[in-house]
Amino acid sequence: MNHAALAREFVRNDSRAHWHDETLWFVRAKRDKAAETLPEWETLRECASQIKAHTVAHLAELLEQFEREATRRGAVVHWARNAAEHNEIVLGLLQERQVRRLVKSKSMLTEECHLNPFLERHGIEVVDTDLGERIVQLAGEAPSHIVLPAIHQKKEDVGRIFHEFLGTEAGATDPNYLAEAARQHLREKFLAAEAGLTGVNFAIAETGGIVVCTNEGNADLGASLPKLHIACMGLEKLIPRTEHLGVFLRLLARSATGQPITAYTSHFHGPKPGGELHIVLVDNGRTDILASDEFRRSLYCIRCGACMNTCPVFRRSGGHSYETSVPGPIGSILAPTRNAGEYYTLPHACSLCGSCTDVCPVKIDLHHQLLTWRRELAHRGLLSRPKRWAMRAASVVFQHPALYRALGSVARVVVPRLPRFLVYNRLNSWGRQRELPEFPAQSFRQQFRARRHEQQ
Ligand code: SF4
Repeated sequence: MNHAALAREFVRNDSRAHWHDETLWFVRAKRDKAAETLPEWETLRECASQIKAHTVAHLAELLEQFEREATRRGAVVHWARNAAEHNEIVLGLLQERQVRRLVKSKSMLTEECHLNPFLERHGIEVVDTDLGERIVQLAGEAPSHIVLPAIHQKKEDVGRIFHEFLGTEAGATDPNYLAEAARQHLREKFLAAEAGLTGVNFAIAETGGIVVCTNEGNADLGASLPKLHIACMGLEKLIPRTEHLGVFLRLLARSATGQPITAYTSHFHGPKPGGELHIVLVDNGRTDILASDEFRRSLYCIRCGACMNTCPVFRRSGGHSYETSVPGPIGSILAPTRNAGEYYTLPHACSLCGSCTDVCPVKIDLHHQLLTWRRELAHRGLLSRPKRWAMRAASVVFQHPALYRALGSVARVVVPRLPRFLVYNRLNSWGRQRELPEFPAQSFRQQFRARRHEQQ
């Protein structure tokens, strides 16, 4: 995959790209306002970061404690080493009970494991019940954002999709009308479902309980109407104790959408009377990240999406250009840990402005990790050829001050006189979206000497 090439496709539609940028910036501004209402915001962030550091350091024991407690409360805990095992476990549970219709609430883990197409290949109808997820599912697309999965679709697009699949009026764009149509459509699916699958926002080791946060209440309906509830979670969703939950819930909603709290925060401790609760714990590369000193902190992530909303690259290139279930700054760290050869362009999709690190509610040093990835990719020989050549040339110039000075003198005289086509052409990809700054008549060194001379 190539992030730059896919981003080029996205910005080709100029008005959509600007709209995407502005919409996400609006969400980021809401996050700032919400954070400012809490004087203890920075203390909360520090607290959350320390709880996650502790959790990650004691992950094995905490997971065992979680399994013990969840089992004691009547849930069945399954362990999956990778995406394939996760999918097989879910399929096995559904087939054993002859389930043909499944309703699903938002779960980025099942996106990561490509569960939907897998189950559909086995004849099981899977309906995503989060409104944004349902829109992209009907459109035959993947979510482009972890919190706002259909953020790349405008209301006109949604009107077209709903007209085609739900029979709404052609050309309808009224959000209330469209939301009502989706509600009626999903209600039928909820009532017909034989099983409900949810993600997990937090799993509490102390109690064996799981917590699911949604704004639409769809996880609650999906988990309470059918008898079978399957909850799928990555190992990193764990927190040690119930008393820690408040710290994360206060940070999550404010960071994600600027709300003080998510509309529905549902706690599941064991199955409902007469029902079954199965919890699938998935590794899928997480223990490899745990073993890495440089990238271990990426496991603190609570998937709020704030780093995506603030990232100038994400806002302008769209989530699909990352080609990963988790895009943006955190996705650009996680994806290469799974497959550096495939995702080597992602750590370069970053301006190193550090805005992601500033907003991250669990204080992940995102831009530092992205920089570390670039060094790692260079060591592994995974830079593109032009970048390799440019880096080698820069290295030679910076190691020889006389050469640096000579090139500077020549460039100051020659470049401003060159015809435009010689400076801005196919070979200068940097210059595709940028103009070179005006060249000063004198170098910094010359100006410095002249000023010192004047002061003497
Ligand atoms: S890295 Fe931080 S800001 Fe980004 S999604 Fe995760 S918790 Fe949110």
